[in-house]
Amino acid sequence: MSKPGKILVFSAPSGAGKTTLLTHLTENVPGLVYSISATTRAPRTGEVDGTHYFFLTKEEFEHKAANNEFAEWQEVHGNYYGTPKTFIDSVIESGRHVVMDIDVFGKLKFDKAYPQAAGIMIVPPSMEHLENRLKSRATDEEEVIRLRLENARTEMEAAETQGKYEYTIVNDDLEIAKVEAVELVKKIIEL
Ligand code: ADP
Ligand code: 5GP
Repeated sequence: MSKPGKILVFSAPSGAGKTTLLTHLTENVPGLVYSISATTRAPRTGEVDGTHYFFLTKEEFEHKAANNEFAEWQEVHGNYYGTPKTFIDSVIESGRHVVMDIDVFGKLKFDKAYPQAAGIMIVPPSMEHLENRLKSRATDEEEVIRLRLENARTEMEAAETQGKYEYTIVNDDLEIAKVEAVELVKKIIEL
């Protein structure tokens, strides 16, 4: 049997650049597989079911949660998000590494099921940067952006006081952050 793969969990306040960095990582680090979460949030323009998320109705999600199909699930910004369990198990059993994106509170639950997971926090240089990025992404209504900014403070505080994040990446200059992320992930995989 091959050596089990690593689990790498990324968390960040919305708009800090997780999706951008994770896309770069899966395209540039061989053997790294992205775990697609399930959500009840509506797809954004350009998002594809089964690629970015499994988009489910609330009823479908609740049914899967009741069947214990998620390693963790959490209500985030008014919608449900969950990490399918069998996928993670099959990837790490095959010796490949799984990378995922979970909010700070979901990560606390996830650690109970997978204490070996590495935690990486991505932070913006400032709250102003975060607000500008959410606005320039132009995928969310003003009210949704306001809620995401409010939650950002709570999430960053909780990450510091309760979270288990061994690594932090400050996403200021994107090209520098991409290089840092690739180097860090390669280091964790080789540990
Ligand atoms: P998240 O997945 O954490 O919500 P995204 O990856 O969608 O964040 O990034 C939010 C927006 O900010 C996107 O429009 C993205 O292109 C942009 N962005 C990401 N990183 C940077 C950066 N370092 N500098 C400027 N803009 C960035
Ligand atoms: P977005 O709606 O911007 O794609 O994601 C919103 C938040 O949900 C982000 O903080 C992201 O990390 C989190 N998220 C995405 N997938 C999951 C998941 O499977 N579980 C949990 N707990 N949070 C998730």
